[in-house]
Amino acid sequence: MKITPINQWLPFKDYLVIAGPCSAETESQVLSTAHSVKKIDRVKIFRAGVWKPRTRPNTFEGIGLKGLKWLQKVKKETGLLTCTEVANPEHIKACIDHDIDILWVGARTTVNPFLIQNIADSLEGKDIPVMIKNPINADISLWVGAIERFLNKGITKLVGIHRGFSTARPSPYRNEPCWKIPIEIRQKVPGLPLICDPSHIAGSREKIFEVSQKAFDIAMEGLMIETHPDPDKALSDRKQQVTPNQLEEILKGLQHRKEFCSDELFDDKLSSLRSKIDALDKELLDILKVRMNIVHEIGQEKIKKNIAALQKNRLDQLIDQRVIWGNKLNLPEDYVDEVFQIIHAASVKTQTQLME
Ligand code: PEP
Ligand code: MN
Repeated sequence: MKITPINQWLPFKDYLVIAGPCSAETESQVLSTAHSVKKIDRVKIFRAGVWKPRTRPNTFEGIGLKGLKWLQKVKKETGLLTCTEVANPEHIKACIDHDIDILWVGARTTVNPFLIQNIADSLEGKDIPVMIKNPINADISLWVGAIERFLNKGITKLVGIHRGFSTARPSPYRNEPCWKIPIEIRQKVPGLPLICDPSHIAGSREKIFEVSQKAFDIAMEGLMIETHPDPDKALSDRKQQVTPNQLEEILKGLQHRKEFCSDELFDDKLSSLRSKIDALDKELLDILKVRMNIVHEIGQEKIKKNIAALQKNRLDQLIDQRVIWGNKLNLPEDYVDEVFQIIHAASVKTQTQLME
């Protein structure tokens, strides 16, 4: 089963913007947000959560069915398409009964294959688009697996939502963006339209612009931004919601970048620079091959003396030394560190295999 191109089921030009509150709270909050965001040209889809997966109990867990009726009103009064989060077959039935246009599954659902399978089973034979948020933890396979479960049931109008990953390390973000994962998922699931949810990545409204720009820099197809008429009084995710006016300002300031363009001069320049990169990468591989031959030789020597494949001291020194060399060349520390961790891990693996 293949993913249906997004422009076959949405009025899509360049990118899409989904706006609306984290949670539907009252009818007037929902309708006033919808009427305000409708005035922003780019916004074609309205979001509001009616069932909220909150971390702690005894907090606001969503308004439930009532909220779906408000979303129906939004559609009738503004013409915006509507979407909400679902986590089980009952939610899906209620959404379909209330003409919700698009469903999304949240990060806490994507993480659980049982739940995803239940949802996919109950969508079989229905023609409703589904947006799949990444799982809370940075496990790309779980995300790909969820997409596959929908495709297996013939649900092909799919969108991925990158909302960041939770981390135990101190971070300026509520959920670390780990940009290499949204980049990698495009290789693993060709044709998947990918949008970014900067609100849940940032966790604070001040960082939404920066995260959104980064999403456009890697050619994502859109944004989902939590929007509330009075964010500081919101019943959930207060700090990360923006007003409709702030949303408009954010969108105005963003540079949307396309993946391709039809300028011949630009294409020629790019091809010539890329052929330089190709030649350098080939040289890099030649060097890695020579390096690997030496790794083999060292491995043989270690076997003779019954020495382990890994010497922790050597690894620490090797990384430190390369980071210093890299610093002199103005290469980012984490980049040099990561590259040599991978190279060294491959050496240890090769030597371990020699010892088997
Ligand atoms: C949400 O969109 O309000 C939400 C709960 O998101 P996530 O699943 O990304 O935490
Ligand atoms: Mn939220």
